[in-house]
Amino acid sequence: MPPGSKTASPLRVVGIKLMARVVALIPAAGYGRRMGSEKPKAFLPLGGIPLLTHTLQKFEACSQVDEILPLVPEGKVSSCENDIVRRSGLKKVQRILVGGQERQESVYLGLKAIEKKADFVIIHDGARPFVFPELIELALSESKRWKAVVAAMPAGDTIKEVSPDGEIVRTVDRRHLWIIQTPQAFEYGLIARAHDKAKEEGFYGTDDASLVERLGVPVRVIEGSRFNFKISTPEDLLLGEALLKYLK
Ligand code: C5P
Repeated sequence: MPPGSKTASPLRVVGIKLMARVVALIPAAGYGRRMGSEKPKAFLPLGGIPLLTHTLQKFEACSQVDEILPLVPEGKVSSCENDIVRRSGLKKVQRILVGGQERQESVYLGLKAIEKKADFVIIHDGARPFVFPELIELALSESKRWKAVVAAMPAGDTIKEVSPDGEIVRTVDRRHLWIIQTPQAFEYGLIARAHDKAKEEGFYGTDDASLVERLGVPVRVIEGSRFNFKISTPEDLLLGEALLKYLK
């Protein structure tokens, strides 16, 4: 081959084939009724910019993530495109989709949209802006080993089962209890199968891992962070503002 030839070397071709493609699905289509605001929660300001911007920036910064797919409420696609993606120069967001009625449906729609385009998928609530890139990287590298991995925190408080009329039924042994967070990272085929089965059977879980558990496939936990809390109420937003100042 003459010097300076542009023909790709066989090594490079093989290298591309060996790379697993990773897509980050970010469900952010909730209206956040507990927030008591007209604006959907993902678009509320945190440190002067939309909450969702913070979350997407964390995934943009991860070298293992190839594409980011946010799911937003109906009517918010162009606002997401202009006020979040363009304004912050997020290059990994190539499409923005409208989510579903339930979080699980939003994730399902995202999974269908990336069929055959992802080897691994990392699912993260748009409403958890304080996820840190190292946790995303750890979830992804562990998912390549275990196929299904979720971030979680060991339960620190005493947990009790309480009847609807407010009486304690029992105290649960907290030694084996973990509070589940996102990110949750999976081999694409596994999470797609889990969602298909749940949809067929009309099962709704409160997270994606629970759908994989129903297949009888083991799911591993990795330690998350107390900072990685979900912003649901006006108090959470206040805590978020304080945390942002502290982290700066
Ligand atoms: O409602 P919850 O706080 O559990 O929502 C967790 C995440 O799922 C949020 O980021 C929210 O925007 C998203 N979600 C969604 N589609 C829905 C409901 C919630 O994408 N229909």
